[in-house]
Amino acid sequence: MSILILKDGKFYRNGIEEPIEIGNREQIDLLKKQELLINQLTNDGVDCDIDEEEIIIYTISIKCICGRKNTIEYEKSSFYDPDLNEFAVDKLIKCRSCKKEYILKEDDCGDLVYKLKNN
Ligand SMILES: [Zn+2]
Repeated sequence: MSILILKDGKFYRNGIEEPIEIGNREQIDLLKKQELLINQLTNDGVDCDIDEEEIIIYTISIKCICGRKNTIEYEKSSFYDPDLNEFAVDKLIKCRSCKKEYILKEDDCGDLVYKLKNN
């Protein structure tokens, strides 16, 4: 059975108006719910649904052999896999000065390192 809704003082089901029926339990319950909502809205207010997302940024700095320090930011979600408990590796970093390429890797100990990319 589809849901009965109340709109502008009239009952609708599937977009079709339903006549007001004295003693109809479903209509009475809906009116009571509506009344309760209006009561809350005009008095204490209704709790909001809040969806909070915390965004963690990793800032990685690498020093190129040309001397330039390159800083790159990654959102944690794209950089760290909490299920595998490891970094999303093999990210490529290009030196902004000399265009040399480096790859971020996890070493055998699980530490994050950067290495010159083999061409
Ligand atoms: Zn460089």
